[in-house]
Parts: sequence; structure tokens; C-alpha cells
Amino acid sequence: MIQAPDVAIVGAGAAGIAAARRLDGSGLSTLVLEALPRRGGRAWTRTMAGLSFDLGCGWLHSADRNPWSRIAEQSGFALDRGPNALGSHFADLGLSPGEFASARRAFARWNERLIAAPPTSDRAADAFEPDGQWTAYLQALSGFISGDELERISARDYAAYDSASSYINWRVPAGYGTLITSGFPANADLRLATPVEALTLDEQHVALATPTGTVRCRAAIVTVSTSVLAGGTVRWPAQLDPWREAATRLPLGRNEKLFLQITGDSPFEPESHVLGDLRDPATGAYYIRPFGWPVIECFLGGAGARAAEANGPDAAFARAIGQLANLFGSTVRRSLRPLVASDWAGIPSIGGAYSHALPGQAAARNRLAQPFDGRLFFAGEATSATDFSTAHGAYESGVRAAEEAIVALKARRATA
Ligand SMILES: Cc1cc2nc3c(=O)[nH]c(=O)nc-3n(C[C@H](O)[C@H](O)[C@H](O)COP(=O)(O)OP(=O)(O)OC[C@H]3O[C@@H](n4cnc5c(N)ncnc54)[C@H](O)[C@@H]3O)c2cc1C
Repeated sequence: MIQAPDVAIVGAGAAGIAAARRLDGSGLSTLVLEALPRRGGRAWTRTMAGLSFDLGCGWLHSADRNPWSRIAEQSGFALDRGPNALGSHFADLGLSPGEFASARRAFARWNERLIAAPPTSDRAADAFEPDGQWTAYLQALSGFISGDELERISARDYAAYDSASSYINWRVPAGYGTLITSGFPANADLRLATPVEALTLDEQHVALATPTGTVRCRAAIVTVSTSVLAGGTVRWPAQLDPWREAATRLPLGRNEKLFLQITGDSPFEPESHVLGDLRDPATGAYYIRPFGWPVIECFLGGAGARAAEANGPDAAFARAIGQLANLFGSTVRRSLRPLVASDWAGIPSIGGAYSHALPGQAAARNRLAQPFDGRLFFAGEATSATDFSTAHGAYESGVRAAEEAIVALKARRATA
């Protein structure tokens, strides 16, 4: 194991894995340090009863231009190219005729206003219709999309994602987390369960203190989440205060998932989707029997995810089962069993779901992505100006940071 690599990568999530792939074969020695005892970060597939559950990323968004689609094809992973039920509401359950279509139209109008006539405040909530009937529904969608309420979302940031997205969504039955972690290059050195506790700079080098010793490197690629960069789990040098300040402008929202097992006969149709309550901003979104499997994936965002965090998984499962019983009838309670729940906010080396810019702060993404002194490079989903909050945005940022490091180290070698 090398103790003094050319490049150390802090974090083995999608961005760190992409950076390691790009550095592989570059002639620069590389060491990846990861706080968790596993690879993948927010890409995490748990396998239970022979089925794969993505506790973090599950959808290959903008799949037609998503680098993970290409990697899946090259490495023999089956891809499900749809159609899928995302965003639909099965059989208008719990609603009067036309209500779901009316809510969808309200969302489309809000989206159009946001793009065509963005609010001068840059607060996404300021594009609401006066006296709109579907504000709770828009807030629920904001929870799923951005992890927070629209009052805390930059309209400009949201629009940058929206105009870059192809809205083509594919899945990997083996799990997006499995695909991403299997992309780790075979030759790269990796230390799991090795948190960087302090990063210091001397004249030439970067030193990364870990519980098992200090790694000295010529350059480091930092891929940690904005919660970690802005928070107190790592001691950062004062020179990085502007990056940490940018990170506070790009907080992680809250999103969690719960998986329920379906046993016996049930009314649940394969590949269907419902919202628990269109008038509740904390509602769960339920993807029913993905791939025909006997499971329901409950997705929580914003207020719903914060409630799960505050009240614990038992209460979150009880609430999810209650919402499904309201829609499908109380007999479904007998056929639903809690399987597994995420706790992204509770993992100290993650600290939430994905980044959103606060109103007026979309430019913080570019500030966060700037290199420091030709030896610190920044990657991670939050550094992408258009594909933040995704695993492909993280991938592209890792490749970008690795290329910056290669150029900088070669230039330094040439002048040495
Ligand atoms: C519930 C949920 C659903 C999602 N759904 C989707 C989806 O459908 N599609 C999609 O594209 N994206 C989705 N995402 C977002 C996607 O998972 C992330 O954007 C992406 O995985 C982030 O990758 P990253 O490399 O930037 O960060 P991370 O995955 O956070 O990687 C950073 C790594 O750094 C490590 N680390 C932190 N501190 C230290 C330290 N001090 N020393 C060493 N290592 C450290 C962390 O443990 C982590 O492994 C979802 C996320 C969540 C939470």
C-alpha cells in the first residue's frame, strides 16, 4: 500500500470512483481513502432475499447521455430502458376524476414560469400561482427533486438542471450502487474505514491525517459532500474557508427510502406508482413492485424525510403502511412488512441526500469546483453546475477533477 501517492482521492463515492478511473493508466500513483467500510457513498445497493435495493441513487437520469449507461453496457450490466411509472398516480386512487391531471398541470405551469419569467428573488416558491390549489403537491415534488421546500431553492439552479436534463430515466436491475461500485478500477489502491481527520498543506505537499497514519501526496481530490466540507468532522486548513463557505450555500436536502415487502395476495400492480396524499407536502411516493418484485419502494423528501429522521424508522414504516392502507384498503396492512430503511442524514461522512443551491447562490457551484494552488481539486455532485444531485453529475465532476490534477502535476514536473 502506498503511503505517498501522487494523488490521494478523499471519498470512494461516484465522484471518487470516476476520478480513480480517469487516473488509472495516467502514470500517476493514486490512493483512495474512504471513511465508510464500503465503496459507493450515496450509491449503495443492499441485496436481500435475492433482490437488489438501492438505498441511494436508483435512476440513471439523463440516461441517454449518462456515462454510467455506457459503463453498464461495456461491463455487461442489464439496463432497463423503461417505460416506467415514475411520477404517475395509479388509477387516480383517493382522488376525484381529473384531480391528478389538474395537479400535474399546476406543476407544469409553475415549471414554465420558473424558466420563462424567473422570480427576481431567485426563490423558487415565488413562482407559485397566487391562490394556487396545489401548493402542497408542488412542495412534495420539491422534496423529492431537491430535498427541501421551494422557499429554500434557487430558481436559477433548478432551471440549470431542468434545461440540461433529458428526462430519460433508466434502471439497473442489479442496482445502480452495484454498477457504480463495480466501476472501481482493479488496480487502484483503496483504504476503506479510513476517515481523513485533518488536511494540512506544507510548501509542496498535502498531508491527510487518518487514524492509521498520515498520507503525504502531491495533490488531493476532495469529493466529500457539502455537509462534510462545511461541517466539523474534518479539520480543514484556513485557506479552504472560501470553499467551505460555498458549501454552506449548497446544503444537502433530506431524502430517505423505505422498502416494504409484499407477502401473499395483494392489489398491488407491478410497475405502478402512487403518491400517498397529494395534499400533504410530507407525503411518501410509492413505487410498487419494480420489475414485478414483491416490494414497494417508498421515497421521502423534504418534510417527509425530516419526519422520518426525527421519529425513527418504525414510525416512518407505520406512516407509509398507513398511507397505502388509505389508498388500497386496510387489508393491505396484513401483506406489508418493513424490510430496510436508509438513514443518509445520520451517516456522519454523508450528512444528507443531495445538494441544492439556496436562493441567489447558484454560482457557489462554480466556486466550489475551483482548484486550490494546483494541488487541491474538488469533485462531487455539488460541483456540477447542471447535473448536481445525481450520480452522473458526480461521475463527470470526478473526471474533470482528475484531469485538472493530471495537467497540474505534469506542469509541476516539467518546471521541477
Ligand atoms: C435517497 C437518495 C436517492 C437518490 N436518487 C438518485 C437517483 O435516482 N439518481 C441519481 O443520479 N442520483 C440519486 N441520488 C444522488 C446520488 O446518489 C449522489 O448525487 C451521488 O451518489 C453523490 O456522489 P459523490 O461521489 O458526489 O458523493 P458521496 O457518494 O457522498 O461520496 C463521497 C464519499 O466520501 C466519503 N467521505 C466523507 N468524508 C470522508 C473523510 N473524512 N475521509 C474519507 N472519506 C470521506 C463518504 O463516506 C462518501 O463515500 C440519490 C441520493 C439519495 C440519498
